[in-house]
Amino acid sequence: SSSGGSIKATLFPGDGIGPEIAESVKKIFDAVKVQVEWDVHFVGKTVDPKTGSYITWDSMESVRQCGIGLKGPMATPIGKGHKSLNLTLRKELGLYANVRPCLSIPGYKTRYDNVDLITIRENTEGEYSGLEHQVVKGVVESLKIITHNASKRIAEYAFHYAKLHGRKRVSAIHKANIMKKTDGLFLQCCREVAEKYSDIVYEEVIIDNCCMMLVKNPGLFDVLVMPNLYGDIISDLCAGLIGGLGLTPSGNIGDKGLALMEAVHGTAPDIAGKNLANPTAILLSAVMMLQHLKLDESAELIHKSVLKTIAEEKCLTGDLGGSATCSDYTKAIIDNLGG
Ligand code: NAD
Repeated sequence: SSSGGSIKATLFPGDGIGPEIAESVKKIFDAVKVQVEWDVHFVGKTVDPKTGSYITWDSMESVRQCGIGLKGPMATPIGKGHKSLNLTLRKELGLYANVRPCLSIPGYKTRYDNVDLITIRENTEGEYSGLEHQVVKGVVESLKIITHNASKRIAEYAFHYAKLHGRKRVSAIHKANIMKKTDGLFLQCCREVAEKYSDIVYEEVIIDNCCMMLVKNPGLFDVLVMPNLYGDIISDLCAGLIGGLGLTPSGNIGDKGLALMEAVHGTAPDIAGKNLANPTAILLSAVMMLQHLKLDESAELIHKSVLKTIAEEKCLTGDLGGSATCSDYTKAIIDNLGG
């Protein structure tokens, strides 16, 4: 939402290293003079009866009103009687698509230099519908729900994304040879959408074969769209191809453009409060947020500067083999903004 020329966005710094890496985003946004005004929300100290979670109703309202947010990692509180924080956000806000761009980071050496993939995961159903029960002692059952609505919605999102970002190919990942009805319906929906996008190549790849192809040659893929469980696994596999979760941005998209971008790594309790965290994942998530808001110039400026700082190898955090602090690295990115 807009107020006085600047866009209001919810910021969840989160726990552990969250506040440190969120500070890095704030500093860099200030340096670029990004027209974003943060509405900062922390995870509550008690369960909010309205959400059944430590995430408060107020925080949800903020994201709903702003329509856009950025999230750091959140520690899962111990004990029963509350809903998972991430699940609450996803369900309450109807964030049906998880998008992860996995692009090689020049200067950070991995097995491949040319990874350029987008994974798009259905976020609301499949094996994660939470419908499990014991039939009799020793026998349990879990229901995998696939609906035409949710499958069509994610397929539409994937093709729309591909077109918007000038991508050439969409691969639907499945196991319809075994899961004939569920994955079969998922594929049928993808095909229906593919017909409307004649300029984008559409293909169907069986998940096991997809894994082999990805580790042998990630260049074979462009945009991948898949049901929930496969997406959970493949998106982490793809993150691994570029160096891991510390470098991978992520976005959760809902209806009417509602979006919550997040760093997918955890709270890193071992290094929290020591100024040692690598803020790259949340910075690249913030770049995704700016792209989503069509603030492409600021997005490009920050993205380039992050990549340049990593490629220079002069100022890297410990996880990337350097000895810089989070604030040193942030300052180096700000110094590199000029190009
Ligand atoms: P973790 O990601 O926090 O840590 C794993 C390892 O990676 C640690 O050695 C850590 O120091 C390192 N690491 C992670 N992010 C880093 C960064 N940005 N810079 C430098 N090093 C980094 O995973 P974990 O230890 O399994 O989980 C810790 C807590 O985080 C748990 O409470 C868990 O529930 C929570 N968690 C939250 C999310 C989320 O909110 N999305 C995701 C995963 C875990």
